[in-house]
Amino acid sequence: MRILLVEDERKIARALGRALEQESYAVDIVHDSDSGYAMLTTEPYDLAIIDRLLPGGRDGMAIIKDARAAGIHTPALLLTALGSVKDRTSGLDAGADDYLVKPFALEELLARVRALLRRPVEQQGTTLQAGDLTLDTVSYKVTRAGKEISLTSKEYSLLEYLLRNQGRPLSKDAIIAHVWDFDSDILPNTVEVYIKYLRSKIDAPFDTPLIKTVRGFGYTLKGDET
Ligand code: CA
Repeated sequence: MRILLVEDERKIARALGRALEQESYAVDIVHDSDSGYAMLTTEPYDLAIIDRLLPGGRDGMAIIKDARAAGIHTPALLLTALGSVKDRTSGLDAGADDYLVKPFALEELLARVRALLRRPVEQQGTTLQAGDLTLDTVSYKVTRAGKEISLTSKEYSLLEYLLRNQGRPLSKDAIIAHVWDFDSDILPNTVEVYIKYLRSKIDAPFDTPLIKTVRGFGYTLKGDET
């Protein structure tokens, strides 16, 4: 899952970026509202975390409001130092999906991030599933046929993206855009390499492969093989 972080206080931005990367998210960080708006409206993020007071032409709320008007529906979490009821509701009215009042505990931010990323698959709670494979987005535990599988951070991100889009063919470019951040030097070949790693762990030891190659395009994950 790829996250955009717009925060002008560099120390906070660095700390948040590091914490999010430790949770296996790909993170792009920008420090002003113009870059934030440009990135949010051109890159396919799964979530945006946006500070309210920013240098540049807009504040955080205006970034979200203008992006929504431009048809961008990326879930957005607004960070604000202003905790009054009016400020909170105006953030939500601008199209933010959630807000967090500064200062906040890192754990709380991570919990909100997980909740926002979970929304499309809310009916599945914290567990993503395909066939006998499950991925727990809170404990980061992956099991297949009851057997726990140990994945690297990137393998985990890749599997989470495939599971959230299961049954849909995903191009290598789409996979790169959602699993790696902007600074990564990624070639389509890299996706093949990581798919190979992932297959060796979640498919090779079992009878039914879940990851299918879509020739000349990319990959799809299917759990209900009939
Ligand atoms: Ca700020």
